[in-house]
Amino acid sequence: MAGETGRCSCPGCTEPPIAVLRGSGERLCTRHFTASVECRVRETVEGGGMVRDGDIVAVGLSGGKDSTVLLHILSRILLDCPVRIVAVTVDEGIAGYRKETIRAARSIAAVLGVEHIVVSFEELCGRTLDALVGELPMHPCTICGVLRRRVLQTAAGNIGAARLATGHCLDDEAQSALMNVLNGDLGRIARTGIPDAGVLVPRIKPLRSIPEKEVTLYGIVQEIYTPLPECPYAGEALRSDVRGFLSTLEYRRAGTMTRLMAGYDRLRARVGGCAGAGRVSCPECGGPSTGGRCRVCELLGQAGRR
Ligand code: SF4
Repeated sequence: MAGETGRCSCPGCTEPPIAVLRGSGERLCTRHFTASVECRVRETVEGGGMVRDGDIVAVGLSGGKDSTVLLHILSRILLDCPVRIVAVTVDEGIAGYRKETIRAARSIAAVLGVEHIVVSFEELCGRTLDALVGELPMHPCTICGVLRRRVLQTAAGNIGAARLATGHCLDDEAQSALMNVLNGDLGRIARTGIPDAGVLVPRIKPLRSIPEKEVTLYGIVQEIYTPLPECPYAGEALRSDVRGFLSTLEYRRAGTMTRLMAGYDRLRARVGGCAGAGRVSCPECGGPSTGGRCRVCELLGQAGRR
């Protein structure tokens, strides 16, 4: 993507391009690439009615590249809007990893002048992820995903947020969509999308149309990345396979992920009323559930906490 020759496609611009957009074929210089990414995120936010005047928007900020880019862009495109942004970082309790990313999250929030809070798995369930991994038989990313969603939702609710923004980009969304299809999980297909309806603080994904490579390049040209260690648990089996498969397809057939998501959104609209699509309150904790005991209570029950 970087290191392109020639001139930027924008009329009158003589700057060298740094990127060729896979969908449109546009060759863009640093300034116009930055503007293009921000414009598409703005269209997603405005077109989806994601944020309204007076809203508090909680932004999940892991300190990694996607959420850092998300906070950076939101703080720019919402600069003149009567909206309060609060960055929320979850400390799962992962030794040798999370402390550094929390430091990076604090730093980027401070640079952008955004309020920042840190909430932890220990506050929710009295355990770190490291401890739970030793007590539960599933992959750490499965435990982490279930508890992180609840911690973020709880924190967003506590600060009165109207929206919870997460840094999922096009690649993440396409991987999740294909995984849901491969798992035959009709209920999950029906529940995903924007805005996320139900008893939760509605979740929004402003980067959902931006390919991961463009998110990465945006962060590089804006100089907002800090080199960080990789999570020692990274590598959820099915997602790794799907990521490799989709990357290969996207390389051979540009626009594959965008087309997949367009079809997935149509499919989601068709199965919206299917069994398992709705959410109810968990009889134990009152949190959101797809029926009966919620996943958080199930996990913590298995770990001997409930
Ligand atoms: Fe959690 Fe897995 Fe991400 Fe590590 S890689 S932070 S365990 S989801």
